[in-house]
Amino acid sequence: METTIFDKILAGELPCDKVYEDETVLAFRDISPQAPIHVLVIPKEKSEGFHNLPEKEIEYTGKFFTAVAKVARLLDLEKDGYRIVLNHGEDGQQTVDYIHAHILGGRKLSWPPG
Ligand code: AMP
Repeated sequence: METTIFDKILAGELPCDKVYEDETVLAFRDISPQAPIHVLVIPKEKSEGFHNLPEKEIEYTGKFFTAVAKVARLLDLEKDGYRIVLNHGEDGQQTVDYIHAHILGGRKLSWPPG
């Protein structure tokens, strides 16, 4: 697996605007926010993308998604709602090959996505 920007953030080699961290995940603000609140959540144990999750134990996926929900709670997004996005591959516009969930909120989001 190639070293990505998110590997470097996790290793402390690049800075991030940290929102939350525990033994499973790191959450930080997206450098190019697409909504007033735009936070990325990455598991500390690497997977390259959503499509690779079947290669992991079920606990890995469970812990990751539970942590994403926990971060959304911390961001106080429940009342107005929010969106979780996981882009995979070229057509999905994945630009960093390290699985990450986008949490987007703070404005009315359009649907369908472009
Ligand atoms: P994706 O297109 O789903 O792979 O999302 C990658 C996201 O990472 C994009 O929204 C980028 O703006 C974001 N990003 C890239 N570099 C950084 C960085 N150094 N710190 C925070 N977010 C970043």
